Amino acid sequence: MDRRNASSSHGASRRWPENDSSVPSLRTCELYGPTSKWDQVGEGTFGEVFKARDTETNDLVALKKIRMRNEKEGFPITAIREIKLLRGMNHENIIDLREVVASQETKEEKGRGSVYIVFEFMDHDLMGLMDTAKMNFPVEMVKCFAKQLLSGLHYCHKRNIMHRDIKGANLLITSKGILKLGDFGLSRTFNDNDPNYKYTNRVVTLWYRPPELLLGATKYGPEVDNWGAGCIVAELLLQKPLFPGRDERDQMDKVFSLCGSPSEQRWPGVSSLPYFRHLNPEPQYPDRLRQHLRSLDSCASDMLCQLLALDPPKRMSAKAALDHDWFWKDPMPCKPERLAAFGYASSHEFITKKRRNERKANDTKRKEQGSAAQNGERPHQRQRSNDWRAP
Ligand code: ADP
Ligand code: MG
Repeated sequence: MDRRNASSSHGASRRWPENDSSVPSLRTCELYGPTSKWDQVGEGTFGEVFKARDTETNDLVALKKIRMRNEKEGFPITAIREIKLLRGMNHENIIDLREVVASQETKEEKGRGSVYIVFEFMDHDLMGLMDTAKMNFPVEMVKCFAKQLLSGLHYCHKRNIMHRDIKGANLLITSKGILKLGDFGLSRTFNDNDPNYKYTNRVVTLWYRPPELLLGATKYGPEVDNWGAGCIVAELLLQKPLFPGRDERDQMDKVFSLCGSPSEQRWPGVSSLPYFRHLNPEPQYPDRLRQHLRSLDSCASDMLCQLLALDPPKRMSAKAALDHDWFWKDPMPCKPERLAAFGYASSHEFITKKRRNERKANDTKRKEQGSAAQNGERPHQRQRSNDWRAP
Protein backbone atom coordinates (compact mmCIF):
# COMPACT_ATOMS: atom_id res chain seq x y z
CA MET A 1 0.00 0.00 0.00
CA ASP A 2 1.30 3.44 -0.86
CA ARG A 3 0.89 5.51 2.30
CA ARG A 4 1.21 8.70 0.26
CA ASN A 5 -2.00 8.05 -1.61
CA ALA A 6 -4.06 7.04 1.37
CA SER A 7 -6.57 9.74 2.21
CA SER A 8 -9.66 10.14 4.28
CA SER A 9 -11.74 12.85 5.83
CA HIS A 10 -10.81 11.81 9.37
CA GLY A 11 -7.32 10.50 8.77
CA ALA A 12 -7.85 6.95 9.99
CA SER A 13 -6.97 5.32 6.67
CA ARG A 14 -3.50 6.81 6.70
CA ARG A 15 -2.58 4.80 9.78
CA TRP A 16 0.46 2.58 9.60
CA PRO A 17 -0.49 -0.79 8.05
CA GLU A 18 -0.51 -3.54 10.66
CA ASN A 19 2.40 -6.00 10.58
CA ASP A 20 4.24 -3.88 8.04
CA SER A 21 7.85 -4.17 9.09
CA SER A 22 9.35 -2.34 6.11
CA VAL A 23 11.46 0.73 6.85
CA PRO A 24 9.95 3.55 4.82
CA SER A 25 11.91 6.64 3.92
CA LEU A 26 10.61 9.61 5.87
CA ARG A 27 8.35 12.11 4.16
CA THR A 28 9.06 15.75 4.87
CA CYS A 29 7.09 17.69 7.47
CA GLU A 30 6.43 20.50 4.91
CA LEU A 31 3.49 18.35 3.81
CA TYR A 32 1.81 19.75 6.90
CA GLY A 33 2.42 23.37 5.90
CA PRO A 34 5.14 25.75 7.13
CA THR A 35 6.20 24.97 10.71
CA SER A 36 5.75 28.67 11.58
CA LYS A 37 2.00 28.23 11.01
CA TRP A 38 1.64 25.27 13.37
CA ASP A 39 -0.12 25.87 16.71
CA GLN A 40 1.41 24.36 19.81
CA VAL A 41 -1.10 22.25 21.76
CA GLY A 42 1.15 20.30 24.07
CA GLU A 43 4.43 20.16 25.82
CA GLY A 44 5.37 17.10 27.80
CA THR A 45 8.50 15.51 29.08
CA PHE A 46 9.50 14.15 25.74
CA GLY A 47 8.59 16.81 23.20
CA GLU A 48 6.32 19.57 21.97
CA VAL A 49 3.08 18.77 20.16
CA PHE A 50 1.70 20.93 17.35
CA LYS A 51 -1.59 21.11 15.47
CA ALA A 52 -1.39 21.36 11.68
CA ARG A 53 -3.26 20.34 8.54
CA ASP A 54 -2.25 17.75 5.96
CA THR A 55 -1.94 19.81 2.76
CA GLU A 56 -2.91 16.79 0.62
CA THR A 57 -5.94 15.49 2.49
CA ASN A 58 -6.86 18.54 4.59
CA ASP A 59 -6.97 16.30 7.70
CA LEU A 60 -6.05 17.89 11.02
CA VAL A 61 -3.05 16.20 12.59
CA ALA A 62 -0.92 16.44 15.72
CA LEU A 63 2.85 16.40 15.24
CA LYS A 64 4.96 15.38 18.22
CA LYS A 65 8.49 16.68 17.91
CA ILE A 66 11.01 14.21 19.17
CA ARG A 67 13.27 15.95 21.62
CA MET A 68 16.90 15.00 21.16
CA ARG A 69 18.18 15.71 24.67
CA ASN A 70 21.46 13.97 24.33
CA GLU A 71 22.77 13.37 20.86
CA LYS A 72 25.33 10.87 22.08
CA GLU A 73 22.54 8.53 23.10
CA GLY A 74 21.08 8.74 19.59
CA PHE A 75 17.38 8.52 18.77
CA PRO A 76 15.47 8.46 22.10
CA ILE A 77 14.31 5.05 23.25
CA THR A 78 10.97 6.53 24.36
CA ALA A 79 10.23 7.59 20.77
CA ILE A 80 11.38 4.25 19.37
CA ARG A 81 9.08 2.41 21.80
CA GLU A 82 6.16 4.71 21.08
CA ILE A 83 6.48 4.23 17.31
CA LYS A 84 7.09 0.50 17.51
CA LEU A 85 4.25 -0.23 19.91
CA LEU A 86 1.70 2.01 18.20
CA ARG A 87 2.49 0.57 14.78
CA GLY A 88 1.35 -2.82 16.02
CA MET A 89 -1.93 -1.62 17.51
CA ASN A 90 -5.29 -1.01 15.95
CA HIS A 91 -8.20 -0.25 18.26
CA GLU A 92 -10.75 2.51 18.45
CA ASN A 93 -9.56 3.50 21.93
CA ILE A 94 -5.86 3.73 21.01
CA ILE A 95 -4.44 6.77 19.22
CA ASP A 96 -3.77 6.32 15.50
CA LEU A 97 -0.17 6.77 14.42
CA ARG A 98 -0.18 8.03 10.82
CA GLU A 99 3.48 8.34 9.98
CA VAL A 100 6.86 9.70 11.03
CA VAL A 101 8.19 12.76 9.15
CA ALA A 102 11.43 14.72 9.14
CA SER A 103 12.08 18.46 8.74
CA GLN A 104 14.67 20.01 6.46
CA GLU A 105 17.98 20.64 8.14
CA THR A 106 17.92 24.32 9.04
CA LYS A 107 20.49 26.82 10.29
CA GLU A 108 18.37 27.46 13.40
CA GLU A 109 18.68 23.82 14.29
CA LYS A 110 22.43 23.85 13.68
CA GLY A 111 22.14 21.94 10.44
CA ARG A 112 20.14 19.17 12.09
CA GLY A 113 16.61 18.27 11.12
CA SER A 114 13.83 17.30 13.51
CA VAL A 115 11.75 14.18 13.51
CA TYR A 116 8.02 14.27 14.23
CA ILE A 117 5.52 11.52 14.99
CA VAL A 118 2.24 12.32 13.23
CA PHE A 119 -1.04 11.37 14.87
CA GLU A 120 -4.68 11.95 14.08
CA PHE A 121 -5.68 15.21 15.78
CA MET A 122 -7.71 14.92 18.97
CA ASP A 123 -9.76 17.93 20.09
CA HIS A 124 -9.23 17.47 23.83
CA ASP A 125 -7.23 15.68 26.45
CA LEU A 126 -9.13 14.64 29.57
CA MET A 127 -7.13 16.95 31.84
CA GLY A 128 -7.89 19.99 29.65
CA LEU A 129 -11.52 18.94 29.26
CA MET A 130 -11.98 18.48 33.01
CA ASP A 131 -10.75 22.04 33.45
CA THR A 132 -13.03 23.45 30.74
CA ALA A 133 -16.04 21.45 31.97
CA LYS A 134 -15.25 22.39 35.61
CA MET A 135 -15.28 18.65 36.36
CA ASN A 136 -19.00 18.67 35.89
CA PHE A 137 -19.75 15.59 33.78
CA PRO A 138 -23.01 13.67 34.27
CA VAL A 139 -22.51 10.10 35.56
CA GLU A 140 -23.51 8.57 32.20
CA MET A 141 -20.70 10.57 30.53
CA VAL A 142 -18.20 9.48 33.21
CA LYS A 143 -19.26 5.87 32.55
CA CYS A 144 -18.80 6.43 28.82
CA PHE A 145 -15.22 7.72 29.34
CA ALA A 146 -14.44 4.98 31.90
CA LYS A 147 -15.66 2.26 29.53
CA GLN A 148 -13.48 3.54 26.72
CA LEU A 149 -10.43 3.93 28.98
CA LEU A 150 -10.83 0.36 30.26
CA SER A 151 -11.44 -1.01 26.73
CA GLY A 152 -8.20 0.62 25.53
CA LEU A 153 -6.33 -0.78 28.52
CA HIS A 154 -7.82 -4.24 28.08
CA TYR A 155 -6.67 -4.22 24.45
CA CYS A 156 -3.09 -3.22 25.48
CA HIS A 157 -2.92 -5.76 28.31
CA LYS A 158 -4.20 -8.55 26.04
CA ARG A 159 -1.29 -7.74 23.76
CA ASN A 160 1.11 -7.76 26.73
CA ILE A 161 1.68 -4.02 26.66
CA MET A 162 1.57 -1.90 29.81
CA HIS A 163 1.05 1.83 29.31
CA ARG A 164 2.80 3.03 32.49
CA ASP A 165 1.63 6.65 32.33
CA ILE A 166 -2.13 6.67 32.72
CA LYS A 167 -3.29 10.21 33.59
CA GLY A 168 -5.75 12.77 32.24
CA ALA A 169 -3.28 14.53 29.91
CA ASN A 170 -2.57 11.22 28.14
CA LEU A 171 -6.24 10.40 27.50
CA LEU A 172 -7.20 12.07 24.24
CA ILE A 173 -10.80 12.73 23.24
CA THR A 174 -12.42 13.70 19.93
CA SER A 175 -15.20 16.27 19.70
CA LYS A 176 -17.49 13.25 19.17
CA GLY A 177 -16.54 11.87 22.58
CA ILE A 178 -14.25 9.02 21.45
CA LEU A 179 -11.53 8.55 24.07
CA LYS A 180 -8.15 7.12 23.05
CA LEU A 181 -5.05 6.26 25.02
CA GLY A 182 -2.12 8.38 23.86
CA ASP A 183 1.51 8.93 24.88
CA PHE A 184 3.05 5.48 24.73
CA GLY A 185 6.49 6.96 25.50
CA LEU A 186 6.77 5.06 28.80
CA SER A 187 5.03 1.91 27.60
CA ARG A 188 6.65 -1.45 27.11
CA THR A 189 5.80 -5.08 26.63
CA PHE A 190 5.66 -7.37 29.65
CA ASN A 191 6.43 -11.00 30.00
CA ASP A 192 3.60 -13.04 31.52
CA ASN A 193 5.74 -16.12 31.84
CA ASP A 194 8.51 -14.52 33.84
CA PRO A 195 7.21 -12.97 37.07
CA ASN A 196 10.81 -12.27 38.11
CA TYR A 197 11.59 -9.99 35.18
CA LYS A 198 12.68 -6.54 36.43
CA TYR A 199 11.50 -3.24 34.95
CA THR A 200 12.42 0.32 35.81
CA ASN A 201 10.63 1.68 38.84
CA ARG A 202 10.64 5.28 37.57
CA VAL A 203 7.33 5.28 35.72
CA VAL A 204 3.79 6.71 36.14
CA THR A 205 3.07 10.33 37.12
CA LEU A 206 3.00 10.73 40.92
CA TRP A 207 -0.74 11.18 41.56
CA TYR A 208 -1.59 8.05 39.53
CA ARG A 209 1.32 5.92 40.71
CA PRO A 210 0.30 2.63 42.35
CA PRO A 211 1.49 1.59 45.82
CA GLU A 212 3.85 -1.14 44.54
CA LEU A 213 5.81 1.47 42.54
CA LEU A 214 5.75 3.93 45.45
CA LEU A 215 7.31 1.18 47.57
CA GLY A 216 10.06 0.67 44.97
CA ALA A 217 8.89 -2.52 43.17
CA THR A 218 10.75 -3.45 39.99
CA LYS A 219 8.73 -6.62 39.41
CA TYR A 220 5.28 -5.49 38.39
CA GLY A 221 2.72 -5.89 35.67
CA PRO A 222 -0.28 -4.31 33.90
CA GLU A 223 -1.99 -3.83 37.29
CA VAL A 224 -0.09 -0.50 37.46
CA ASP A 225 -2.41 0.85 34.75
CA ASN A 226 -5.56 -0.39 36.48
CA TRP A 227 -4.67 1.61 39.61
CA GLY A 228 -4.36 4.71 37.38
CA ALA A 229 -7.75 3.96 35.81
CA GLY A 230 -9.27 3.73 39.32
CA CYS A 231 -7.75 7.13 40.22
CA ILE A 232 -9.13 8.72 37.03
CA VAL A 233 -12.66 7.34 37.44
CA ALA A 234 -12.69 8.42 41.11
CA GLU A 235 -11.46 11.89 40.07
CA LEU A 236 -14.24 12.23 37.49
CA LEU A 237 -16.91 11.16 39.99
CA LEU A 238 -15.62 13.08 43.03
CA GLN A 239 -14.69 16.11 40.90
CA LYS A 240 -11.23 16.37 42.41
CA PRO A 241 -8.06 14.28 42.30
CA LEU A 242 -8.10 11.32 44.71
CA PHE A 243 -4.42 11.31 45.77
CA PRO A 244 -2.84 14.71 44.98
CA GLY A 245 0.53 14.10 46.66
CA ARG A 246 3.18 16.86 46.85
CA ASP A 247 6.09 14.45 46.71
CA GLU A 248 6.69 10.72 46.96
CA ARG A 249 6.43 10.57 50.76
CA ASP A 250 3.24 12.63 50.80
CA GLN A 251 1.87 10.46 47.97
CA MET A 252 2.39 7.30 50.06
CA ASP A 253 0.78 9.00 53.02
CA LYS A 254 -2.25 10.03 50.93
CA VAL A 255 -2.65 6.51 49.50
CA PHE A 256 -2.13 4.58 52.73
CA SER A 257 -4.16 6.92 54.93
CA LEU A 258 -7.17 6.19 52.69
CA CYS A 259 -6.58 2.62 51.54
CA GLY A 260 -5.08 1.44 54.85
CA SER A 261 -1.49 0.72 55.87
CA PRO A 262 0.12 -2.10 53.89
CA SER A 263 0.69 -5.28 55.91
CA GLU A 264 1.78 -8.85 55.17
CA GLN A 265 -1.73 -9.94 56.05
CA ARG A 266 -3.42 -7.72 53.46
CA TRP A 267 -0.60 -7.80 50.93
CA PRO A 268 1.66 -10.87 51.13
CA GLY A 269 5.26 -10.01 50.22
CA VAL A 270 4.91 -6.25 50.76
CA SER A 271 7.53 -6.21 53.54
CA SER A 272 10.22 -7.24 51.08
CA LEU A 273 9.65 -4.20 48.85
CA PRO A 274 12.63 -1.78 49.01
CA TYR A 275 10.97 1.20 50.72
CA PHE A 276 8.66 -0.73 53.05
CA ARG A 277 11.07 -0.34 55.96
CA HIS A 278 11.06 3.43 55.49
CA LEU A 279 7.34 3.57 56.26
CA ASN A 280 6.50 4.82 59.72
CA PRO A 281 5.11 1.86 61.69
CA GLU A 282 2.74 4.26 63.47
CA PRO A 283 0.03 5.24 62.92
CA GLN A 284 -1.43 2.10 61.36
CA TYR A 285 -4.17 3.41 59.11
CA PRO A 286 -7.43 1.45 58.70
CA ASP A 287 -8.92 0.99 55.22
CA ARG A 288 -11.23 4.03 54.86
CA LEU A 289 -11.61 4.04 51.08
CA ARG A 290 -15.24 2.86 50.98
CA GLN A 291 -16.14 5.41 53.64
CA HIS A 292 -14.35 8.14 51.63
CA LEU A 293 -16.41 7.20 48.56
CA ARG A 294 -19.72 7.15 50.46
CA SER A 295 -21.19 9.99 48.38
CA LEU A 296 -21.11 7.69 45.32
CA ASP A 297 -23.56 4.89 44.68
CA SER A 298 -22.47 1.59 46.22
CA CYS A 299 -21.88 -0.01 42.82
CA ALA A 300 -19.38 2.72 41.84
CA SER A 301 -17.55 2.53 45.16
CA ASP A 302 -17.43 -1.27 44.94
CA MET A 303 -15.72 -1.10 41.55
CA LEU A 304 -13.31 1.63 42.66
CA CYS A 305 -12.33 -0.28 45.81
CA GLN A 306 -11.42 -3.24 43.60
CA LEU A 307 -9.46 -1.15 41.09
CA LEU A 308 -7.67 0.48 44.02
CA ALA A 309 -6.74 -2.75 45.84
CA LEU A 310 -3.28 -2.32 47.39
CA ASP A 311 -2.12 -5.86 46.61
CA PRO A 312 -1.58 -5.97 42.80
CA PRO A 313 -2.86 -9.55 42.25
CA LYS A 314 -6.09 -8.62 44.05
CA ARG A 315 -6.54 -5.51 41.91
CA MET A 316 -9.37 -5.74 39.39
CA SER A 317 -8.31 -6.19 35.75
CA ALA A 318 -9.56 -3.89 32.99
CA LYS A 319 -11.54 -6.81 31.55
CA ALA A 320 -13.26 -7.61 34.86
CA ALA A 321 -14.00 -3.90 35.42
CA LEU A 322 -15.77 -3.73 32.04
CA ASP A 323 -18.07 -6.50 33.29
CA HIS A 324 -18.78 -4.75 36.58
CA ASP A 325 -22.44 -4.02 37.37
CA TRP A 326 -21.69 -0.28 37.44
CA PHE A 327 -21.60 -0.30 33.63
CA TRP A 328 -24.81 -2.31 33.39
CA LYS A 329 -27.16 -0.40 35.64
CA ASP A 330 -28.92 2.93 35.26
CA PRO A 331 -27.77 5.45 34.31
CA MET A 332 -26.14 3.36 31.55
CA PRO A 333 -23.03 4.81 29.83
CA CYS A 334 -24.19 7.36 27.26
CA LYS A 335 -23.16 7.34 23.61
CA PRO A 336 -19.81 9.14 23.09
CA GLU A 337 -21.47 11.62 20.66
CA ARG A 338 -23.37 13.06 23.63
CA LEU A 339 -20.19 15.02 24.43
CA ALA A 340 -20.73 17.18 21.34
CA ALA A 341 -23.97 18.52 22.84
CA PHE A 342 -21.99 20.31 25.58
CA GLY A 343 -20.11 22.30 22.92
CA TYR A 344 -16.83 22.48 24.83
CA ALA A 345 -14.05 24.43 23.13
CA SER A 346 -10.99 22.36 22.21
CA SER A 347 -9.12 21.81 25.49
CA HIS A 348 -5.58 20.57 26.04
CA GLU A 349 -3.72 20.61 29.34
CA PHE A 350 -0.95 22.81 27.91
CA ILE A 351 -3.43 25.58 27.02
CA THR A 352 -5.76 25.31 30.02
CA LYS A 353 -2.79 25.26 32.40
CA LYS A 354 -1.32 28.34 30.73
CA ARG A 355 -4.67 30.12 30.99
CA ARG A 356 -5.05 29.09 34.64
CA ASN A 357 -1.56 30.32 35.51
CA GLU A 358 -2.20 33.63 33.74
CA ARG A 359 -5.48 34.03 35.62
CA LYS A 360 -3.76 33.23 38.90
CA ALA A 361 -0.92 35.67 38.20
CA ASN A 362 -3.44 38.41 37.33
CA ASP A 363 -5.50 37.73 40.47
CA THR A 364 -2.40 37.84 42.65
CA LYS A 365 -1.21 41.03 40.98
CA ARG A 366 -4.62 42.63 41.47
CA LYS A 367 -4.72 41.59 45.15
CA GLU A 368 -1.18 42.80 45.74
CA GLN A 369 -1.90 46.13 44.10
CA GLY A 370 -5.13 46.45 46.10
CA SER A 371 -3.55 45.70 49.49
CA ALA A 372 -0.46 47.76 48.69
CA ALA A 373 -2.65 50.68 47.79
CA GLN A 374 -4.67 50.22 51.01
CA ASN A 375 -1.58 50.03 53.21
CA GLY A 376 0.51 52.41 51.19
CA GLU A 377 3.10 49.59 50.80
CA ARG A 378 5.15 48.15 47.97
CA PRO A 379 3.82 44.81 46.61
CA HIS A 380 5.40 41.92 48.52
CA GLN A 381 6.21 38.35 47.70
CA ARG A 382 3.48 36.26 46.08
CA GLN A 383 1.52 33.92 48.30
CA ARG A 384 1.44 30.21 47.64
CA SER A 385 -1.64 29.18 45.80
CA ASN A 386 -4.12 26.65 47.18
CA ASP A 387 -4.98 25.41 43.71
CA TRP A 388 -5.13 21.59 43.86
CA ARG A 389 -3.71 21.16 40.38
CA ALA A 390 -0.05 20.25 40.10
CA PRO A 391 2.08 23.26 39.13
P1 ADP B 1 4.62 13.76 26.33
O1 ADP B 1 5.25 12.42 26.26
O2 ADP B 1 5.59 14.83 26.07
O3 ADP B 1 3.77 13.95 27.55
P2 ADP B 1 2.16 13.48 24.82
O4 ADP B 1 2.03 12.51 23.72
O5 ADP B 1 1.46 13.16 26.10
O6 ADP B 1 3.68 13.82 25.05
O7 ADP B 1 1.64 14.89 24.32
C1 ADP B 1 1.62 16.03 25.16
C2 ADP B 1 0.26 16.70 25.05
O8 ADP B 1 0.01 17.06 23.68
C3 ADP B 1 -0.92 15.82 25.45
O9 ADP B 1 -1.15 15.89 26.84
C4 ADP B 1 -2.06 16.44 24.64
O10 ADP B 1 -2.59 17.57 25.28
C5 ADP B 1 -1.36 16.89 23.35
N1 ADP B 1 -1.50 15.85 22.33
C6 ADP B 1 -0.79 14.71 22.20
N2 ADP B 1 -1.22 13.98 21.15
C7 ADP B 1 -2.24 14.66 20.60
C8 ADP B 1 -3.11 14.42 19.49
N3 ADP B 1 -3.01 13.33 18.75
N4 ADP B 1 -4.04 15.36 19.21
C9 ADP B 1 -4.14 16.48 19.95
N5 ADP B 1 -3.37 16.75 21.00
C10 ADP B 1 -2.41 15.86 21.34
MG1 MG C 1 2.03 12.93 28.05
